[in-house]
Amino acid sequence: MFPAEFINEMRDSLGPERAERVLSALAGEPAVSVRVNPRKLTLVALRAHFGTLAGDVVPWASDEAFYLNDRPSFTLDPLFHAGAYYVQEASSMYVGQLFERAKATLGKEALRVLDLCAAPGGKTTQLLSHLDDASLLVANEVVPSRATILAENVARWGCSNVAVTSSDPAAFASFRGFFDIAVVDAPCSGEGMFRKDERAVAEWSPDTVRLCAARQRRILADSWPALAPGGFLIYSTCTFNRAEDEDNVEWISHELGAECLDMRHFYPGEDRGEGFFAALLRKPGPGPWPQNGCEDTQRHSMVGKQRFSAQMKPQNGYKIVEAHSVAMLKQLTAPLAAALPQLEKPLRVIASGTAVATRKGRDLVPEADYALAVERMPVEGLSYETVEISREEALRFLSREPLVLPDAPRGYLLLTYQGLGLGFVKNLGNRTNSLLPSSRRIKMKA
Ligand code: SAM
Repeated sequence: MFPAEFINEMRDSLGPERAERVLSALAGEPAVSVRVNPRKLTLVALRAHFGTLAGDVVPWASDEAFYLNDRPSFTLDPLFHAGAYYVQEASSMYVGQLFERAKATLGKEALRVLDLCAAPGGKTTQLLSHLDDASLLVANEVVPSRATILAENVARWGCSNVAVTSSDPAAFASFRGFFDIAVVDAPCSGEGMFRKDERAVAEWSPDTVRLCAARQRRILADSWPALAPGGFLIYSTCTFNRAEDEDNVEWISHELGAECLDMRHFYPGEDRGEGFFAALLRKPGPGPWPQNGCEDTQRHSMVGKQRFSAQMKPQNGYKIVEAHSVAMLKQLTAPLAAALPQLEKPLRVIASGTAVATRKGRDLVPEADYALAVERMPVEGLSYETVEISREEALRFLSREPLVLPDAPRGYLLLTYQGLGLGFVKNLGNRTNSLLPSSRRIKMKA
């Protein structure tokens, strides 16, 4: 079932008995695990939501994730669409632990974090759970179609301190020392996907491994200058072979001068998950480096593209800005608003902060992402009422089927499910118009 070269490589690196254990686990059923969005729900509440399906906690992410005893239909769960949790392979959640270690060593309140290979957003949403609004995250995905999916998952998570970009890693070279922590969850030969994805098995070959290892080095070398001296790199793959894992960590240490602080393999059959490799490395230098002052970036924004203008004074550290080119208002955390002009210069920014509303004549029409935000800053001229809906109504809304809410006020309504924002409709009395983008419509029937 698996390529002979892969089996031999596993036997060489693990020894025959261990390799057999891992290989037979690779032929079994994958585990299902979910990670809570702590800004929307508690872990206890999420366990209660899944009831008897909720299983053991993920040992290396025990304060945020647990296994499920079976795979439910996430598509038919409104809480999933409200961004209350993310379905993520368990072993890759180890990144959260390494990230906490890096954060604790840096001891800074405001961090700049880069997630370089970010789609579909598992690590991005986890990093966001470990960051507050004083920090900012740039989540990058070079493949445009995958970057769109990343932006949707980020919007669902509801944070306004994150920019989604779609650029080649080489574009980050100009950010000299800008980021305190960089996560490179590199494209790899995917041996850890063998259990879930038959294509990963079919596409695997020794040549693929060699090509992947070379590409990973290129990505690492391209983005290395963007990391501040004293900053941390989390390098990870979902593959088991030495070339893409240990050899690349050695290469980072020798060629780029990093110090390796931690390195761990997760294997199916040994750790409950699909398999993962992660290393924590530190760039030499005193660090934390003084951040590029906000004054500089503010000045740049005055002479720069002039696409945004501040609408209001910051509230609770947030700013409402207007992108005049598309008549859209957004809310951004103040650190992200300050950094944005600098990011926009070399990068293709496809989303930043939270889209709040679009101007249509004299009307302000609320954006779907605003409903999903963990904080909703009030905006002058934008008014709506909040209406709690049932599961059945939520599924109809998510299917873009018409809802009739005769007892609700007319005008824009923020629909909530179990207290969490799900989306907006315009209530006309005898019917409602959905403001859910067609691309987010669910097609599955309950
Ligand atoms: N971090 C993601 C998560 O947790 O959901 C998974 C990332 S996946 C392992 C690797 C990503 O790297 C893919 O989305 C892939 O499109 C992207 N990628 C492919 N080629 C790349 C390249 N040359 N440079 C940077 N990223 C690349």
